[in-house]
This record gives sequence, C-alpha cells and structure tokens, in this order.
Amino acid sequence: MAEDNSRPIKRLKLNDNAEWYASAILTDEYSKEIPRVTVYLSELDNKRQISNVMYQLSKMLPLEQMNLQHLKRVRQLDIILCKVGDLKDQNITQYLESVGLGNEVVDILCKNIREYDVPALPPMLRWQYELAQTCWPCKFHPDKYMESLHNGSIFNEKERKFHSNIMHLLLTIKNCMENDKPCGICIDPRTKSVVALASSRASISPVMHCPMMLVDFVARTQDGGAWREEVSDEFANDDEELYNDVKVNPIISGIPKRYLDFIRTDERFKDIRIGAELPRAKLKCDDIEQNATLNVDNLEKYGPYLCTGYDLYLSQEPCLMCAMGLVHSRARRVYFEKRSYNGALVTRFKLHAIKELNHHYEVFQCKKQGEDSNHVIYS
Ligand SMILES: [Zn+2]
Repeated sequence: MAEDNSRPIKRLKLNDNAEWYASAILTDEYSKEIPRVTVYLSELDNKRQISNVMYQLSKMLPLEQMNLQHLKRVRQLDIILCKVGDLKDQNITQYLESVGLGNEVVDILCKNIREYDVPALPPMLRWQYELAQTCWPCKFHPDKYMESLHNGSIFNEKERKFHSNIMHLLLTIKNCMENDKPCGICIDPRTKSVVALASSRASISPVMHCPMMLVDFVARTQDGGAWREEVSDEFANDDEELYNDVKVNPIISGIPKRYLDFIRTDERFKDIRIGAELPRAKLKCDDIEQNATLNVDNLEKYGPYLCTGYDLYLSQEPCLMCAMGLVHSRARRVYFEKRSYNGALVTRFKLHAIKELNHHYEVFQCKKQGEDSNHVIYS
C-alpha cells in the first residue's frame, strides 16, 4: 500500500467515538468512610425513662460539647452518654456525677452500660449517610453540588462529548507529535476554546514540565511568558499571526505554530475552537458587558489573570511543583488522564484538599469505560 506522504502526522488508531468520562477526585471527607469513635451507651428499661434522662443529659452533657451534634441521641432504648475518651481517671458513674447529673438519673443510666462505635464526623454525601445510618441514626444536610460531583451528573451529555473531543486531541498530539511526552491543553470553558497547548520541555530545563509550559503559554496570551527565548522555535513568528478562519477569539499566541496548523487542518478536529480572550484593556465596552453576564470566578471583573476561570487537561497527574503552579495561576479545574508516581492530586496526596491554600481547583481524572485508571506511570 502506498504511503501517504502528504500528511506528515501519522494517524493514531484511536476509536473516534470513544467516550471519556471525568471522575471527580474528591477530598477525603467526601471520598472516605466516616471514622468511628467509641461512646458509652446506656440501655434503658423502658421508654418512659427517656424524657427524664434526656432533659438532664442535654443540659449537662450536650452532644455539641462532644462534637457529636450530627448524631441523634437516642436509638430505641439506647442512649448516648459520652465519648469513652472523655473520661480521665474516673469510672463512668463518677464521671456522670461530676458533670452534675442527679443521683436518680445516674442510677438509671448506669444500670446497663456498654461501649459502642458511632460515626465521629457528620456525613457529607448520601452514601456516607446511608452507611452511617446502619450504625447509628444521623442528621444529614444534602449538598446537591457535591453529590453531582460525586455521581458524575455534574456533566451533561454535551460536556461529556467535549471532554472526549479534548482528550482525543490531547492524546493524538501526545502520541503522534510528541513521542509520548506529557502534554496539556488549556481551555476557556465559557467559549469552549483552546487557549494554550503545550508539552513537556524537561529536556531544556528540569522545571519545564508540561503544566509549567502550559501556564507559560497561557501567559503569552496576556502579553507575558517567561520562556519566550527558550521556545522561540515553536512560535514561528512571535508577532501575532492572525488567521481569517479563527472561530472564536483572536489571541492564538498560546498555541505553538505546528499544533495550530494541525488543529486547523485535521478533519477530526475541525470543530475545535481556538483562541483566548483579548486582554481586557483592548476590549470595547459592549464586549465587556457581554462577557460580564457569564459569571466565572472574577474573570469578568479583571479579565484573564493567567488561568483564572480556565480548565486544564493534562495527559498525566501533575507533580507537586506543577500542582502548586496551577494553584498560583488560579486554574478552575484540572483534568488529567494517567496517574503519576509522584502525582500530587491523588497518588501521593491531594493538594486541593489543603484548606490553608488561598485557591482551590477542582480535580478530575479522565477515564475510559473498562480501562484500568489506577495504573501509575513513571516519567
Ligand atoms: Zn511537574
């Protein structure tokens, strides 16, 4: 069979209709079972005793004081007294007396006591609630948004299709143009447009990992970019080269020339939009008004600042340096395909779970039905 030399980029044998789905990497309070804590339970003789002992218990030993306010106090004839760990050198009778319960109530409560494990923290998601309920009755305030992240319903069909298209483009570039090096794409989710596209340049400098390159290329669309000299060969003409057929936004300076040419000429990616928003100062007044209606972070107020409001798609989980770089650059969401041995979003730890950081992005792993997504890559 004659080889087709007209197209220098070899075809990737990928199923074009392959469906990707994005699975949220939630912080441990949402993704793990609720830990248990041991309490003393008292089993009463009959229900008539409940109101009497409850009155004194809720006054002298309120659940709030033990950080157990997410629990109901009573289950049938069982009643929670206190955490086992709250007793120092006392026995339970001495302890109940010491908090001020009347002798008669202490006698009733101490008749039949046993230790029992209850959920130590409030359930955050319905699955945790249902599991906790099998152990002890809990209070639960459902959070619709977090539930949708957990069960995947956050994305509609159109958005899932978009993830698939971007993942397809990302892997095609990685496999066919970059010899399997880590690659990444930055998307403006408001316009569904490619802002920047980069691959690892760790061969030039050990800090030029793919996500760092991607942030640098995003900065180029805002008249920045720290590595202009190092990557000058990737951008044939550093002045803005305008294409007549750019579908959305005129700023294409975040996309190296050969990727740009590839996206614009390959039939499979003809629907993919390219270009970033103009820096705010260059926008006309009506453009600003139009953009202001889209409520994304504080983007409409200040214009893009690095990755503010942007989503990043990476072929692999970022390392700690890069994950932190994405915090500093204010990414909105990070999607990655493969786990990395030194990954900082799920494999080693979850950087986005650190509450003390001043910015948090949402993290998703892009998976394909039936494929092993826990496999870790060492590069
Ligand atoms: Zn890195």
